Amino acid sequence: MKGKRVLCWFTDNLRLHDNEMLWQAATKASAVLPVYIIPERWFRQHPLGFPKAGAFRLKFLLESLTDLQEQVKAKQANLLVLRGEPSEIIRSLVKEHNIQHVVASTAVTAEELQDFERTEKELKKVQVPIDYYWQNTLYQLNDIPWPIHRLPENFTSFRKEAEQEATVRQSFPVPDVIPFDFKIETTPIPSLGDWDIPQPKNDIRTAYPFRGGESAAIQHLQQYIWEDERITTYKETRNELIGTAYSSKVSAWLAVGSISPRYVYEEVKKFEEKRIKNDSTYWLIFELLWRDYFRFAAKKYGNAIFFKNGIHNKKYTWQNDIEKFERWRLGKTGERFIDANMRELLHTGFMSNRGRQNVACYLAKDLKVNWTWGAAWFESQLIDYDVCSNWLNWAYIAGVGNDPREDRYFNTESQVRKYDPKGLYMERWLGPVNETIKP
Ligand SMILES: Cc1cc2nc3c(=O)[nH]c(=O)nc-3n(C[C@H](O)[C@H](O)[C@H](O)COP(=O)(O)OP(=O)(O)OC[C@H]3O[C@@H](n4cnc5c(N)ncnc54)[C@H](O)[C@@H]3O)c2cc1C
Repeated sequence: MKGKRVLCWFTDNLRLHDNEMLWQAATKASAVLPVYIIPERWFRQHPLGFPKAGAFRLKFLLESLTDLQEQVKAKQANLLVLRGEPSEIIRSLVKEHNIQHVVASTAVTAEELQDFERTEKELKKVQVPIDYYWQNTLYQLNDIPWPIHRLPENFTSFRKEAEQEATVRQSFPVPDVIPFDFKIETTPIPSLGDWDIPQPKNDIRTAYPFRGGESAAIQHLQQYIWEDERITTYKETRNELIGTAYSSKVSAWLAVGSISPRYVYEEVKKFEEKRIKNDSTYWLIFELLWRDYFRFAAKKYGNAIFFKNGIHNKKYTWQNDIEKFERWRLGKTGERFIDANMRELLHTGFMSNRGRQNVACYLAKDLKVNWTWGAAWFESQLIDYDVCSNWLNWAYIAGVGNDPREDRYFNTESQVRKYDPKGLYMERWLGPVNETIKP
């Protein structure tokens, strides 16, 4: 790459900090062309009648790209934001700008890998190499103490051994400058209107008013950890349902890569050194290890993470019952706790972890509806949609994933007693009891 003209293909790494792909290019190449391509496949309709990527997710992504473009400009370069088939766009950019090398961020799941394979084919024709960087987990793939096919079957074994044997590498700094000599016009960031998608309404009841972009991500983490010191009580509050502070709310930025997990880790470590170290500060890292685990597991199991029989091909009977599914999706099952959570998701694109566990269990184990439908709805709706975390959490709860306990079940009544004893959360989303809309 040294002295070459390099195309930097941004995907799920929309940041300047801790971005090895960008760092290598910016410090070695003679010129760097940063590019992001919005794939058309996101605009396809799911057979169940909702878009693959819904308005909340897209809005957040477009905000993230706007911020990234500004950050890149501040480094004296420009970010091209284009729409279409990545392999075709990259092929024509390579020709047009005399690109000699392409760099990208590794993926582990099918659609993303397919984009890479198609692009590789095109690049081979013009003898332009492509390098990939593994850069969205705490532990590097090469640093975990197993070859991927021997990744432990459950999280606890993974965590215990990884914590003993592996270390989290230091994050990469922000490059001082991005060498750039391309004669290109700034590409405006598309708006939702370009796809005829209505702007989602702001709901004041939201758990957090997410705004996309690296700047917002870093600011938010600074506030959560350093200013408000909410991290010091994270372990006690993380299962709550209302408000901005019960959990870290970093998931959406992690999902598009506006913040790196290693950056979060380093901030937690600094905080522990300078202020307070307790079970809660550790617990945030513990949860980030779940995220790591699911990414590694997705690499291990490949497409089986999307199959209804799951990673071990368990043959349960699932009902493809569209009516039950629609009632669940729209928050009209008549089960207030489930409906409140599903309304929150519908109106804001977010739901707490406790809520997600309950509604997923309800769909799969009470209604016995095909869990992959629920995962698909989450994929469309969640601001923080992450392919590995979403599909493997769903599989886990449906009993076809990495859960060593086959009989895990969230009893809604006892969950309400524990997590919403005064009914405040349900009232927030459904109104007082007698106003509940029954199906
Ligand atoms: C059915 C289901 C679907 C889910 N889908 C997604 C998804 O698409 N994207 C996503 O980021 N998370 C998903 N989660 C995990 C979890 O619910 C969210 O990460 C969390 O609620 C986000 O809020 P937070 O950032 O405040 O979390 P915090 O409690 O503050 O946790 C900090 C971070 O740890 C990671 N984390 C926490 N719990 C989990 C977990 N169970 N699995 C993986 N990572 C975890 C996340 O990166 C999170 O941002 C899902 C969970 C379930 C049960």
